[in-house]
Amino acid sequence: MPTKAQDFNEWYNDVVERAALTDKRYPVKGMNVWTGYGWSVMARIDGLMRREMARTGHEEVNFPLLIPETEFRKEAEHIRGFEEEVYWVTRAGKNELDIPMCLRPTSETAMYPIFALWIRSHADLPLKTFQIVSTFRYDTKQTRAFLRVREIHFFEAHTAHVDAADAERQVREDMEVMESLGRELCVPYLLNRRPDWDKFPGAHYSLAADAWTPGLRTLQVATIHHYRDNFAKAYNVTYEAADGSRQFVHQTTYGMSERLLGAVVAIHGDDKGVALPPAVAPVQVVVVPIPEKGRQSAILDEARRLAGELEAHVRVKLDDRDVRPGAKFYEWEAKGVPLRLELGPRDLADGVVTAARRDASDRTTIPRGDVVPQVRDLLLRIQKDMYARAERDMRAHIVDIATPEEAREAINRFGWCGDPECGHRLEQDTGMSILGTPFEPERFDGPCIVCGKPATSAAYLARTY
Ligand SMILES: [Zn+2]
Repeated sequence: MPTKAQDFNEWYNDVVERAALTDKRYPVKGMNVWTGYGWSVMARIDGLMRREMARTGHEEVNFPLLIPETEFRKEAEHIRGFEEEVYWVTRAGKNELDIPMCLRPTSETAMYPIFALWIRSHADLPLKTFQIVSTFRYDTKQTRAFLRVREIHFFEAHTAHVDAADAERQVREDMEVMESLGRELCVPYLLNRRPDWDKFPGAHYSLAADAWTPGLRTLQVATIHHYRDNFAKAYNVTYEAADGSRQFVHQTTYGMSERLLGAVVAIHGDDKGVALPPAVAPVQVVVVPIPEKGRQSAILDEARRLAGELEAHVRVKLDDRDVRPGAKFYEWEAKGVPLRLELGPRDLADGVVTAARRDASDRTTIPRGDVVPQVRDLLLRIQKDMYARAERDMRAHIVDIATPEEAREAINRFGWCGDPECGHRLEQDTGMSILGTPFEPERFDGPCIVCGKPATSAAYLARTY
């Protein structure tokens, strides 16, 4: 099998399979079968989102999968943006449906007619909801587990507010949530305001979190949209203001998917397999006894005691299968378990345990009596180190360019006058995409890289997934 450095794409497919995160043999492309292990990782990621949503006062809802065409067609830009990608249901049993229904590609058009009924007065606002459901988009590019799928495991938050300023506050809150998730998943990113031609269909503006992958491309792992009252006008979502007048609500959405898991695999995996951050690893510590003839039961008993002590503090698994230790090491490394504890005859004699980090090659010994606090410390350190390493790698790939010809396989930072004409030309000449302008303004002195007029902002250009 090719190494990560030799052929990123082949390597990616291989490690996903070796970790048994999905079973790709399902006969519909882009619709992955989640295995028990893969789903347990995704469920942990979903759990982090649910925790963040609870902390910020969002309510979990669950809307129907099918959307009538009549509702779907109410917001013109939105339809234009999704028309090429939606799946249609036109028949039920032997009957043609009067009104065809699409499988939600996203849920604005399912939710907002109901929001219009839920929201009566300013006292109902802000309305903060989210759901975690499958959405469907017929992506015509080559599919790839987690990174490009047609059935998407989708997180979508939808909120409604009294005015644009309150919706803006929501955008800021979403950014904080994203920051916290990025830390826990060890996925650093740049937050960019997408150029107008690349914003979400129907949005006033779109922000995107772009991670850097060793495949020399950026990967959009989350988006936050400010809709203003664009959808409210199409779906007549209004409230009675304090002065008795009826006003349109202002809305936001925040979307993420299993791409977050794809980013973890892409960024942290190596030639041994996947490497999971402790925060989302279903198994944080695996205990592997190293038996010696004649002393099997003493070693196994001690391994059981060890796992038992750790159980209350970390997610630990004792691998007591009758398989040779080397094969166990190989398997748990492929699955990305952050920490392995080995217990052999020498460890037993010395009163220690040998610890091997998945994210680094060093092995250490821990005094047996000090295992619980030291394992917890090690997991915290692994979590921090994985994030720091990924961030260093991303920052190392940001390069300033002064001419379009200098654009390379990196995150190219350049001066832009903001004119879409210049943007389109740059994308055409380089074959790359403009990620947009950094949400937190970055000082940039110099001319627009295309037309030579003064640049109004720094902008980013890269190959994207
Ligand atoms: Zn220009």
